Amino acid sequence: MDPAFPVWLEDMEQAARDQTFKDDREKMMLAVRTSAESIRHQGGPFGAAIFDRATHQLVALGANCVVPCNCSHWHAEMVAIYRAEAASGRFNLRACGEQGYELFSSCEPCVMCIGGTLWAGVTRLIFGALDEDARTIGFDEGPKHPEWQAYLRARQVEVVGGLCREEARAVLQRYSDDSGLIYNAT
Ligand SMILES: [Zn+2]
Repeated sequence: MDPAFPVWLEDMEQAARDQTFKDDREKMMLAVRTSAESIRHQGGPFGAAIFDRATHQLVALGANCVVPCNCSHWHAEMVAIYRAEAASGRFNLRACGEQGYELFSSCEPCVMCIGGTLWAGVTRLIFGALDEDARTIGFDEGPKHPEWQAYLRARQVEVVGGLCREEARAVLQRYSDDSGLIYNAT
């Protein structure tokens, strides 16, 4: 039985496919808005979006569905990657589009999603809130290697961090203020 892809997320993804995104900031804000919507639907406060680097069109959207789907690896990045691979009919996105695909995440990826990003074959990773912002409200991001960004760059993945950090961090803070479940706190 597959974890169900939430209807609200599918609707949001469909609507965003018709939108025009003119720069990184607008793409990131879609991921941040998705993180906020996720809270409203009992999900974790994280969102992600994958775009075609040549056309700037949305390919797939993701939200943290760990709790609503009872799935420990259903982080926003993994959901977006799953959706993008299913939509493209490929297990590696590197050859997709004229210039490959890029992954926007509302928060710096955890140890699992760093690996997921690498295996997905996206050629660009952009994140909003930083690792310390997620840890501040209690999420465990796992044992990340301090040189993880350099490792991705060495594998031809461009990495940009801290874009729209304040907006992304505000969603994390709201989740914490509302006593949202920190499901992997130890
Ligand atoms: Zn993750």
